[in-house]
Amino acid sequence: MKYLDHAATTPMRQVAIDAWVEHAGALNPGAQHAAGRQANAVLADAREQVAELLGADPVEVIFTGSGTEADNIAVRGLYEAMRGKQGDRVVCSPVEHSAVLETVKALGAQHVDWLPVGDDGHLSDLEALDTPAAVAAVMWANNETGALQPVKEVVRRAALQNTPVHVDAVQAVGKVPVHFHDLGATTLAASAHKFGGPRGTGLLLAKRSPAPTASIHGGGQERGLRPGTVDVASAAATAVALAEACSEMDRERERVKELRDALVAGVQREVPDVVVTTQEPAVEGHAHFMFRGAHGDAMLMLLDSLGIAVSTGSTCASGVTRMSHVLEAMGVEEALGLGALRISLGRTNTREDVDYFVQNIADVVAKARAAGNM
Ligand code: PLP
Repeated sequence: MKYLDHAATTPMRQVAIDAWVEHAGALNPGAQHAAGRQANAVLADAREQVAELLGADPVEVIFTGSGTEADNIAVRGLYEAMRGKQGDRVVCSPVEHSAVLETVKALGAQHVDWLPVGDDGHLSDLEALDTPAAVAAVMWANNETGALQPVKEVVRRAALQNTPVHVDAVQAVGKVPVHFHDLGATTLAASAHKFGGPRGTGLLLAKRSPAPTASIHGGGQERGLRPGTVDVASAAATAVALAEACSEMDRERERVKELRDALVAGVQREVPDVVVTTQEPAVEGHAHFMFRGAHGDAMLMLLDSLGIAVSTGSTCASGVTRMSHVLEAMGVEEALGLGALRISLGRTNTREDVDYFVQNIADVVAKARAAGNM
């Protein structure tokens, strides 16, 4: 299989599998006996390693059950903690992943200000940050287009109003350098399975103050923000996966960018009327395309039958596929946006994968267009 869907998830790294197997027998890290202390030592090492790699203090690292959970704990928790002081107002980008978007909508805030986005997928105006808010949420890298957002500037502007900022860095961690203290965000979310760790493990970095109010309650683990017995084996696997991703980051960024540029040039040559949605600055592995008149789902299935795994980015609600909310926020017309295809390259990909995709894309688009005209 040619796996070109690394933004959905990436295969677990061998070092992570090895660490997971090594620590699969770890017992409850909260227990006071020797076995508990042993498990807790493994967890403490993992926490320290993650903190060091992401420019945070160990106490700021919280292991969660997913990136989605980290986003929920942060956005809801900061809103609850701050709305009394800062007012019942939230600032958010409209291109967030549903983990943030749906959480913001579920808060029931009196005002939500959506930051405008340009047709290149980047935030185009940060003025809404110049008024105090209980929380602002802006993602680092977009999961569909790969667009890198000006998160440093977002944090700087928000800080002038004492507005805490949550950064969803799920598509950025392991792909671009992330330093929590340099960024200055209040909270940051990451997800292990996006950088070669296990699925079902997330990371929340949370400053000591202001701290999110707990939204789930239990035994007080993970600073009381994510109570529940921690999965020590997954924490250890996450730390080593992140270490490997960071150590090979410079080399991989260059290699993947070369592959991505060859892929984009190849698709433009084979299908001259393609619209390349991904615009710089963007994470290197992403290439998002739109083919007018060719349905994304049809292209995905045709590519799948050729052994090529990609995604569309659109959502299917009650059997009707709609254009993604990301493309909608970018002002893309629906007839074009329904022909979306997201290619995301990663460490397993080679030039051969790219060439195979390019060889097949014209035929796939032609067939999907023909099917759409029937
Ligand atoms: N945020 C972004 C930007 C994502 O791309 C994803 C996953 O696709 C998530 C959050 C959710 O992460 P998880 O799959 O760990 O719940």
